Amino acid sequence: MSDCLFCKIIKGEIPSEKVYSDELVYAFKDIHPMAKIHNLFIHKQHSHDINAMTKDSPDQISDVYKAILKWTQDEQLDSTGFRVVTNCGADAGQTVFHTHFHVLGGEKLGRFGK
Ligand code: AMP
Ligand code: ZN
Repeated sequence: MSDCLFCKIIKGEIPSEKVYSDELVYAFKDIHPMAKIHNLFIHKQHSHDINAMTKDSPDQISDVYKAILKWTQDEQLDSTGFRVVTNCGADAGQTVFHTHFHVLGGEKLGRFGK
């Protein structure tokens, strides 16, 4: 989508700190990290939110989670643990409407909630 921030990041029109890329998935450092490690994993095909992705292109969820598996194994985060978060809609505070998966770790994380 031409006016989507994360589509522009995938195309290289807006700079990002890449941590992972394959033919389907791109991942980069969150500009406002909420943990020592805070990356955003996104599918290269645009979708508005996780429900749209689940409804229209469910295979994309496993594409992203396979990328997360590879990256966390490469970084040995699979042994220490990590968290994956996807905000959907207003109450969750979704601000970018290109489905994304926050991957947080590198330290002991607090409990989540309000
Ligand atoms: P959400 O609030 O779940 O929609 O998450 C959007 C995330 O995108 C936030 O954590 C922002 O800090 C992050 N973000 C926004 N713009 C950029 C950017 N240009 N580069 C990296 N991360 C960004
Ligand atoms: Zn997009």
